[in-house]
Amino acid sequence: MKYVIIGAGVAGVTAAETVRKIDSDGEIVLIGKEQFLPYKRYLLTEFFCGTISKEQLFSLSCEDLKRLKITFRKGQLAKSVDFENKKVKLFHNETVSYDKLLIATGGKPRIGPALRSFEKNLQLYYSLEDILLIKEKLDSVRTCVVFGQGLSTLDLMAGLKNLKKEVIYITKKPRAFFPLLQSNSDVDVHQFLSEKGVKIITNDRPVSVEKRDDKFIVETFNGEKLTADLVFAWDDYRPNIRFLENTKIDRKIGILVNEQLRTSVEDVYAAGDCAEIYHPKIKNYWINFGYPNAIEQGETAGKNMTGLNENYRIRETLVFHVLGKPFEARWWE
Ligand SMILES: Cc1cc2nc3c(=O)[nH]c(=O)nc-3n(C[C@H](O)[C@H](O)[C@H](O)COP(=O)(O)OP(=O)(O)OC[C@H]3O[C@@H](n4cnc5c(N)ncnc54)[C@H](O)[C@@H]3O)c2cc1C
Repeated sequence: MKYVIIGAGVAGVTAAETVRKIDSDGEIVLIGKEQFLPYKRYLLTEFFCGTISKEQLFSLSCEDLKRLKITFRKGQLAKSVDFENKKVKLFHNETVSYDKLLIATGGKPRIGPALRSFEKNLQLYYSLEDILLIKEKLDSVRTCVVFGQGLSTLDLMAGLKNLKKEVIYITKKPRAFFPLLQSNSDVDVHQFLSEKGVKIITNDRPVSVEKRDDKFIVETFNGEKLTADLVFAWDDYRPNIRFLENTKIDRKIGILVNEQLRTSVEDVYAAGDCAEIYHPKIKNYWINFGYPNAIEQGETAGKNMTGLNENYRIRETLVFHVLGKPFEARWWE
């Protein structure tokens, strides 16, 4: 049996380990587009702040991969999937055949249309590559402007404050607002950020980000002009499934799966932030975001790929850690 897993994040790695526990002989191929060993994205801020080392970020070492007999295709992007012939096409046009396929490609941050033309002046805070780049510049960074409502933006601001940087957060709302947290958590996010020393500009939004010498000038709708060393933006987060365009697999925002994480295509599973799971309670599909869910889904998908029939137990809440402070987020009402 040949198991192919696209995406070497939390869900993909857990699935590979789970398959190996059950099937000691099967061939496992793990395809990851990043130029690193598989790593734990949710620990990036700890690495950014220096509380863990780069090595502690990695979920599998070269020795682990060898011991588990996992062929890791590092730095190789899956470009498309031919479901009829059970083949994954890689960026360099090599094809990898499979008997069972797991898609675990996670999600990626998006910048809204208003700032898209300034994208080259904006810094993302999402991957190990981003963090290494920011770390390189950090000594010369004093002031950062941050915009967006992604939960990781919150993590980033707390991290920057920990590193004694000046942080200015711009929000369109009357108070700092992170959609999935605010209504369900007893922690006031606006107050938490203010107490950390973040300057919050409310009821406003950036309209341009221009580079002048080695600084960035951010102009806002209400006429503020801010000078920053780095400008971060993260408007929303979407599953990484563009490579499945023009295929027959059912999808809405993410890949649609049932409670056993099976997609509409036979022998193809999806798990983690790229999957939308059917929730019988709300009778609809939903992305069950976050790393604890990705781990559990990876485990369920891995088991079911080997022939078991296990249901994924949907979690209604998850805890998002912002430098030691737990914030509860609820996905289901
Ligand atoms: C800074 C930060 C802090 C976070 N903190 C928390 C937290 O405290 N709590 C929490 O619950 N969640 C947190 N998260 C979110 C959490 O990391 C994700 O929910 C989790 O990693 C999802 O796991 P995944 O396996 O689905 O996706 P990922 O871990 O993103 O892995 C997907 C992998 O697939 C690869 N890939 C994508 N497309 C392709 C392709 N076509 N071919 C090959 N490879 C591909 C990607 O490069 C990536 O490595 C945080 C995220 C960030 C960025």
